[in-house]
Amino acid sequence: MLPGLVDVHSHPGIEAPDDAYSHEVFRQHMLAHRAAGVLTVRSPGSADPVRDRADDPDLPRLVRSGQWLATPGRFFPGAGRRVEESELPAAAVEEAAFGWRKVIGDWMPDDPPVPLDVLTATVDAVHAAGGRVAVHCQTAESCRNAVLAGADSLEHGMHLDHALLPRMAAQGTALVRTFSAFAKSIENLEKSSDARLKEWVRSGWEHAFPTVRAAFEAGGTVLAGTDNKPCGRLAGEISWLIKAGMPVEAAIGAGSWTARAWLGLPGLVDGGFADVVGYAADPTEDPDVLSRPELIVLRGKAIL
Ligand SMILES: [Zn+2]
Repeated sequence: MLPGLVDVHSHPGIEAPDDAYSHEVFRQHMLAHRAAGVLTVRSPGSADPVRDRADDPDLPRLVRSGQWLATPGRFFPGAGRRVEESELPAAAVEEAAFGWRKVIGDWMPDDPPVPLDVLTATVDAVHAAGGRVAVHCQTAESCRNAVLAGADSLEHGMHLDHALLPRMAAQGTALVRTFSAFAKSIENLEKSSDARLKEWVRSGWEHAFPTVRAAFEAGGTVLAGTDNKPCGRLAGEISWLIKAGMPVEAAIGAGSWTARAWLGLPGLVDGGFADVVGYAADPTEDPDVLSRPELIVLRGKAIL
């Protein structure tokens, strides 16, 4: 039995980043997570942070982060909340009540990331307001800035320099590599006519496997997040972490008890939440069973 699976990178309520938020779609996504035993979801960037609900007892627990915060030239056109770089620290604090804030730290391969001083001021301001900061970063420079700024998590961390891993471990910056999303990007890459983009994504994909293994070996926190549709495929992300060389038990923890602790939620302890997922066999011996839960209890209510 596990204290429920956790997907730390999922965007319920939209199918694509520039979609309008739909509460019906949100419910369908959260129910798909629940059916897979994913009882906690962190949404690092929402299309409508007001309407998505953390208080619906039928749905998995939702850790919210408000809207994506994107500076000019970064992120999907029309998506997220757009602010100038100079406005970023103040804007990040405005929705800090959600607990997390998500900053788009870079976008295209050769474009400059959010400057280090701006990102540092943003992280400091959110921390002072009691929140935490997730940074979307894919270029090496953007990953470096996110680590030096003291971000709480690197989302994707595609070209992360391994020299930064000890610092990440020491300051508690987690790596959420989102293999599931990139596996799909790699499949679709052949259709792209942009040779630079192809090379960037393909080399980043190859880099991901040694990076995850090295991050774990450096004592860092590596967590499982899919960033992908359909929802409810966290077991697949855990299997990518195992393929990358994390020990099986640590990889499962990355999508369960380690993630819960990192989010400040209890595991299977006295006085904790009655969130439990049970399997026919020990997942550390047979991780394939993670996609076939036989018992799901959310907030004390048997779902399966
Ligand atoms: Zn995402």
